[in-house]
Amino acid sequence: SEAIAAVIDKLTSAEYGVVTSMKEIDAVGHRVVHGGEKFACSVKIDDAVMTALEECTPFAPLHNPANITGINACRAVMGDDVPMVAVFDTAFHQTMPGKAYMYAIPYEYYQNDGIRGTSHRYVSARCAELMGKPIEELKLISCHMGNGSSICAIDGGKCVDTSMGFTPLVGLPMGTRCGDLDAGVIQFIMNKYGISIDEMLNILNKKSGVLGVSGVSSDFRDLDSAAAEGNDRAQLALDMFHYWVAKVVGSYVAAMNGVDAIIFTAGVGENSKSSRAAIAEYFGYLGVKIDPVANSKRGEDIMISTPDSKVKVFVIPTNEELVIARDTKAICG
Ligand code: ADP
Repeated sequence: SEAIAAVIDKLTSAEYGVVTSMKEIDAVGHRVVHGGEKFACSVKIDDAVMTALEECTPFAPLHNPANITGINACRAVMGDDVPMVAVFDTAFHQTMPGKAYMYAIPYEYYQNDGIRGTSHRYVSARCAELMGKPIEELKLISCHMGNGSSICAIDGGKCVDTSMGFTPLVGLPMGTRCGDLDAGVIQFIMNKYGISIDEMLNILNKKSGVLGVSGVSSDFRDLDSAAAEGNDRAQLALDMFHYWVAKVVGSYVAAMNGVDAIIFTAGVGENSKSSRAAIAEYFGYLGVKIDPVANSKRGEDIMISTPDSKVKVFVIPTNEELVIARDTKAICG
């Protein structure tokens, strides 16, 4: 209140003032950081609005209390006759669709921390070069399949979705990570076997995935050999992995309303022709046709789909170090 009184004093100062009296001030506009979902536009402040601002304080604990103090101070000094308006930082963003800004969990847990970002960025840019088209015109899906695996939907050069989440545990089953899992399974196993949450997460991170299912190895080369020798669980682990890649790719085709090219990269994607062929089997509905001769090659940027394949399929060895080096040069150089 003292600060507002000092401001008004200056505004009306005979020497420096811009108004001769407070009566000349017709209204006061206040910037308010967070209006929550209640306010999609600016509002005239009344008691109900003040209550709503208090309710939004948990979302902006540093800003909203100061904004409220400022409003109250103006009211105290200027009286109730001068109208006050709240203009919200959040209002502009209220037009975003729920599907874009929501996780289906409590707000404070919101976070999206995909790993492998540099890999998807590199291979998608390289793919556009190989296709001879601007990346802005392409819908791409990159499948990073290594020890850790993730899939990324890239529309016009921008990542629009990725199978990784708050941690790398979700999405595809990986070498030793479980991938997507019903949270009820976690509670069931913990209760039945008296396991702590830390132990449980250790199991899901280090003893699950294709290792957990096969009981053989997390290395796809070992799984290929074991499956060839008739090990059913090794084959099951491979089948599950291929199935999940196909399922996630299909969901991203739906999310982007189409796809121009699918990219395989990382240890399994670059080296395993059998995994690539098994996954591509699921892409018949996209008009994908694989050239077996091209698919048998290794270690180079190569289109493994036939020239008449409707959606193109590429193997592109990833180069995360190059991306990091380029960025470092751009900033420091
Ligand atoms: P990350 O970077 O996630 O640790 P990589 O991209 O280095 O993983 O991939 C390593 C994995 O690639 C190995 O665990 C192995 O399963 C797989 N891999 C490497 N070479 C082959 C191959 N010739 N055939 C099948 N899988 C392979």
